[in-house]
Amino acid sequence: HRYPCCWRCHHELIYRVSREWFIRTSKLKDRLIEEAVKVFFRPESAGKAMLNWLSELKDWCISRKRYFGLPLPFWICRNGHLTVVGSREELVSIAVTGTGQLVELHRPWIDRVVVRCRVCGENAYRVKEVGDCWLDAGIVPFSTLKYLKDREYWAKWFPADFVTEMWEQVRLWFYAMLVMSVVLEGRAPYRRILAHGMVLDEKGREMHKSLGNVIWADEALEKMGADVVRWIYSRQNPSLPLKFGYEKASKVRARLNILHNLLNYVATYSEANNYKPDSKKPLSPEDPLNRWILSKLQGLIVEVTRSLEELRHEKAAALLEEFWVEDLSKWYIKLIRWRLKPAVAYKYKYETLQTLYHVTLQLLRLLSPFLPFLTEYHYQQFFKQYENSESIHFHRWPAPNQKLRSPELEEHMEIARNIVKTCNSLRAKAGLKARWPLPTIYFNSNQRVRQTITLLKQVILEGCNAKKLSIGEPLNKGFLKEEFEHGTLYIPRRLTNEAKIEAAVRELARRIQVERKRKNLKVGEKVKLWISTPNTIEKDIRKFEEYLKAATDADIIKLGTLDDGVEVEALGIKMRFKFEK
Ligand SMILES: [Zn+2]
Ligand SMILES: [Zn+2]
Repeated sequence: HRYPCCWRCHHELIYRVSREWFIRTSKLKDRLIEEAVKVFFRPESAGKAMLNWLSELKDWCISRKRYFGLPLPFWICRNGHLTVVGSREELVSIAVTGTGQLVELHRPWIDRVVVRCRVCGENAYRVKEVGDCWLDAGIVPFSTLKYLKDREYWAKWFPADFVTEMWEQVRLWFYAMLVMSVVLEGRAPYRRILAHGMVLDEKGREMHKSLGNVIWADEALEKMGADVVRWIYSRQNPSLPLKFGYEKASKVRARLNILHNLLNYVATYSEANNYKPDSKKPLSPEDPLNRWILSKLQGLIVEVTRSLEELRHEKAAALLEEFWVEDLSKWYIKLIRWRLKPAVAYKYKYETLQTLYHVTLQLLRLLSPFLPFLTEYHYQQFFKQYENSESIHFHRWPAPNQKLRSPELEEHMEIARNIVKTCNSLRAKAGLKARWPLPTIYFNSNQRVRQTITLLKQVILEGCNAKKLSIGEPLNKGFLKEEFEHGTLYIPRRLTNEAKIEAAVRELARRIQVERKRKNLKVGEKVKLWISTPNTIEKDIRKFEEYLKAATDADIIKLGTLDDGVEVEALGIKMRFKFEK
């Protein structure tokens, strides 16, 4: 035989038969099942586990042979009659002796109270056992809701809309509450249950002091940040164990940083363009890019709301993250960046700023229960000055506006995104950076996709960073091609000299932007810019003067020879620049 051992003194332990107290729950089985099936369980398997447990239900052993704990309120006389006491008042009313010393209803004081047997009138003494702790926990929907003292108050809160705890509670707390509630009120004490898995370390081991792999909550909140921890939990499928640790936290932080930067961008460019949100001005943009992001937002509101109602928080969180990373940051904002430069005159500028403000504020409202600190920070920093509510947390949950939905436009945009994705994969093969403008690209496709091109030509050109989009195949061989589900895309294998100079100018502009940031210049703050280039291309560079002014917020550009300043070399062209306010 192998024996278990005592965890403290390591003595061998054996099973021993003893007399115990039970609640005959096996007789309640059918009633418990009837009420349990009315409860919404998430994950579904937790509901199945509950039904399995109930269909195999044994009687509930409620006694424990310990000293401390909830004393069972059972008194027995020498004739074996059982007296069950229901309250302190009842105890005092039938006590023979011992009530004077009764400090509280625990041992040792409770054991000194002797009562009169209800059947024979003899003295009765309390049994020595204490109760199973789940008796206490199971009565929570009544004890904490003043069931005995204030029935009206209790009725206001009972049953609970939502209870969440670990998966193991199916057979413990969830079950104990169900028994108490079906016996007392004939129904389950909760409408919806979310059961979740365990937290493990990043390697999937349980956290133990002896393994040295424990991360305490305070430490995690301090080092990772509360919203990072919240987002880790929000993205987690609750039926699986959560592998928690700093590596995961740094990945999550990177994605939250995208959101943080995006919200900073909204504030910076609204202010740089002197945009003042006005809720009285209707939101009905003409530009397809703006109409598209508004349509996506409505879908997001619908899906996030539904996911939360189904207790699928991880789905809601995944949708929100996809929206801010893929739809907003990597697509929409990338495409509006140039249009929102303060020096660029663009006919849809106002509606773009209006759309951007609306979309990001709605996003903050959707995110506020998940990321209360990050959302409130940005709300206080920027949005609050234009809104009536003191805090993002005082806002209502957003409702979708069906008029702003356009599934057809979303389909076209999906095609446009695929074209741009293909273009980028071709660029990688040709060694041409996304920043370098392509003179002409060719696209060969079917009729359906041509509709997309008519509607979204500007978006495709900007997304591909190309000057011209021609339908059909190129005549000469200087092109790379890729076939994909919507057609075949062709881009030039290499840049012409003229295109190289333009690409070099783009690199120069980017380098100037980095330098502006390094010197803490504000967006829109004007500078005087000196540029020196090889003499042979000075004339060509002049062609991009207007571009450079807008890209770098320069009001004067001087071309000439510089000995100092920052050196930039791009596409084999050596340049220098410096600027001053
Ligand atoms: Zn022991
Ligand atoms: Zn008796």
